[in-house]
Amino acid sequence: MYNNEDRQVRKIVIDPGHGGTDSGAVGNNALEKDYTLLISKYMYDRFKELGVPVAITRDSDVTLSPTERVSSILSKFGNNDDVIVISNHINSGGGQGAEVIYALRNPDTLAKNILNNIGNTGQTTRKYYQRRLPSDPSKDYYFIHRNTGRTEPLIVEYGFIDSQKDVNFLNNNYRDLVEAVIQAVTNYIGVPYTPPGGMISNTYTVQRGDTLYSIANRLGTTVDELRRINNIEGNTLSVGQILRVPTESITDDEENIYIVKAGDTLYKIAQDTGTTVDELKALNNLTSNTLMIGELLKLPSNLLPEDTYIVQKGDSLYSIAAKYNTTVDALKEVNNLTSNILSVGQVLKLPTVEETSGTITYTVQRGDSLYSIAREFNTTVDEIKYLNNLESNLLSIGQVLKIPAFQTLETTYTVERGDSLYSIARKFDTTVDKLKQLNNLSSNLLSIGQILIVRE
Ligand SMILES: [Zn+2]
Repeated sequence: MYNNEDRQVRKIVIDPGHGGTDSGAVGNNALEKDYTLLISKYMYDRFKELGVPVAITRDSDVTLSPTERVSSILSKFGNNDDVIVISNHINSGGGQGAEVIYALRNPDTLAKNILNNIGNTGQTTRKYYQRRLPSDPSKDYYFIHRNTGRTEPLIVEYGFIDSQKDVNFLNNNYRDLVEAVIQAVTNYIGVPYTPPGGMISNTYTVQRGDTLYSIANRLGTTVDELRRINNIEGNTLSVGQILRVPTESITDDEENIYIVKAGDTLYKIAQDTGTTVDELKALNNLTSNTLMIGELLKLPSNLLPEDTYIVQKGDSLYSIAAKYNTTVDALKEVNNLTSNILSVGQVLKLPTVEETSGTITYTVQRGDSLYSIAREFNTTVDEIKYLNNLESNLLSIGQVLKIPAFQTLETTYTVERGDSLYSIARKFDTTVDKLKQLNNLSSNLLSIGQILIVRE
């Protein structure tokens, strides 16, 4: 879905700075070449995902001389002014924050937008600028600008490798930094930006009959805000146009607001938030059951306390008792019931579950197995089966299991999104150096899902 006015789709060459024997800047036990490769590969995948023609000068730890690098760049899509070159770097030298350097032959538009977007991620920004060769000020200082023909090259310095603050930021947020650059580029070349797969809740696709005003209302924002973040000047929208939605501003202020996510239904939301479909529809003036991703729903402010249960179609006292690890008698007692008859929508109090000493209880979730639960709680499948009188390995969602309450310390940790060696070290009361030693790590880079030894 490219802008029709753009006859030619612009192409991107990504250049991960340094590589091989040229490690680039060094600091905080990290090498620039590792970061530039990590950043560039993610950037490459994302441009592909967005349907933008893209190439990369290296996708592994190899050495490229300046000449090799430049000829590689020019060989990808030719020596043409419709080629944008993004050369990714990490700075050093005692500063902090991001910089963008653009060529003497180009306007500042893209450099300015990239730095601006980087600032929106929370990273400090320094400046966007051009740099001239002292011996011949008519020429660019950097070869990546000077020798890349008619292309539009930019050096993006994401931060300083000798700044602990920047390295922490990079470790935790490099994807956001890349998204910031990609948003600036897609905006510049007129290609719609969509966030990485799975995170579609902060865009909205314009439907027939929509106006900026109706969309703003529906998404809980303002026309001005929509115009601002989408760079829209007038009121014209086209069906199928993808708009960015300011999710952050809406989630913060109101507690009783729910933002509709992919896969949600009114029924599911009602269940999850302890209300009913009818109540949700009444509160939000909904005439149908259709929801849109990103839509805001008001929730009733008097949410039921956690130890209550709303009777669903098909429930019996027996099934509810089994689900919550209690007895029919206990349910009848706390709810003053004289018969076993329930009505759909009836609110039941649940008896407080008494913890057997030495055990905790766990409610089976979708995707659980005895094995995964045993691992999570540092116990064994057999122990769980014994404690719960289980004869087979079959579990049902909602089933309540007794789990032995061991106080054993975990010795491994699986890296999650947003982790850094530093944050993990803090979590396990150890140091970055100790973690690196235990895991034979030569750099500070982690990947999601990586298993680290955190204790000896
Ligand atoms: Zn560099």
